[in-house]
Amino acid sequence: MIITIDGPASAGKGTLASFLASCYRLAYFDTGMVYRAVGLEMFLRGLNVEDEAAAAEIATKLTFQRMMELSTHPEFRGPRGGQNASIISAYPEVRRLLLKMQQDFCKNPTFPDGSPAEGAVYDGRDTGTVVCPGADVKLFVTASPEVRAERRYKEFLSRGIQISYDEVLKDIKARDERDSTRSAAPLRPAEDAVVLDTSSLSIEEVEQKACAIIDSRLVSLENLKKSV
Ligand code: C5P
Repeated sequence: MIITIDGPASAGKGTLASFLASCYRLAYFDTGMVYRAVGLEMFLRGLNVEDEAAAAEIATKLTFQRMMELSTHPEFRGPRGGQNASIISAYPEVRRLLLKMQQDFCKNPTFPDGSPAEGAVYDGRDTGTVVCPGADVKLFVTASPEVRAERRYKEFLSRGIQISYDEVLKDIKARDERDSTRSAAPLRPAEDAVVLDTSSLSIEEVEQKACAIIDSRLVSLENLKKSV
């Protein structure tokens, strides 16, 4: 089973994706990592993220293993990591180059220890529209910019990152604007996605709603199999 979860920054996709992966025993691919990895590699090599050709060159050489190594760097999940990833992800050539790695995972999903899984949960911006258009279940998780900024602000504080709420809100709005207006794979729900607005929901309520959607989809798929 392939489940895709798309939506804007800090809507709760990662938390939900990890929960669903463990609940349904599926592998998990956080696709934002590919863009964060290219951004961090550029930063470590002193390259400018505004240099599209240099970003494409780094994307060509990125391997899954290198992405996992980079993900342990403190800047990877920091504010700069997110901003750089957002800039780089708007380059069509970079997206094209990083698509194969994301799609290959779906053919051979594995758990972090390398053992095979019977499916995967993807999270990102275009996983239901571009990366896995044939996914069994597609969710689009969203929330108001203010609610998302509050969540991200608390997360940064808990990790000891010094930043103001206003800066976080400004960054969220800038990323929303870039993600939804770029020419390559703009952020939007797939036509067959179920939209979940989490603004006034607790994590447990979001998880319950998502499980109900998935379980009813599994029943429909089972009935479809029986009828053919
Ligand atoms: O989800 P995360 O915040 O880690 O993603 C970092 C950036 O990568 C996002 O702001 C978005 O611009 C980009 N991204 C994307 N397509 C994806 C996943 C992430 O464009 N599938």
